[in-house]
Amino acid sequence: MLNGGCFCGAIRYETAGTPFDQTNCHCSICRRTTGAPFVAWFSVPRSEFRLTRGTPMRFRSTPKGMRSFCPRRGTQLTFEHDDALDEIDVTTCSLDDPERLPPEDHTRTSSKLGWVKLSDGFPEYREARYEG
Ligand SMILES: [Zn+2]
Repeated sequence: MLNGGCFCGAIRYETAGTPFDQTNCHCSICRRTTGAPFVAWFSVPRSEFRLTRGTPMRFRSTPKGMRSFCPRRGTQLTFEHDDALDEIDVTTCSLDDPERLPPEDHTRTSSKLGWVKLSDGFPEYREARYEG
């Protein structure tokens, strides 16, 4: 079981799903919606993700992308895509223990900031992992 939530504790979640696609996303939308140079994510089956406290605020970050965050303190929590209804992406650093799910690659590096120098040796994908 993985447990996490926002900075203030108003939102809590748990998931028993097996995580996959752990990544550092370098897209400009992750950057602008968090204020961080890139964002670590993992995915789980949506049916295995459960909010156990509170109701996040949701917003469309693209026509098909929906993000959620804590309405009290702003921690970004999830990303869902209309074309991938069976999965949900969760911000790795909203986990109680982010050390459990280290990223395994970098995605959207075509948008990566020039002053972010990658040296971990993980695969780098210029766009999404599955579209080359
Ligand atoms: Zn992104």
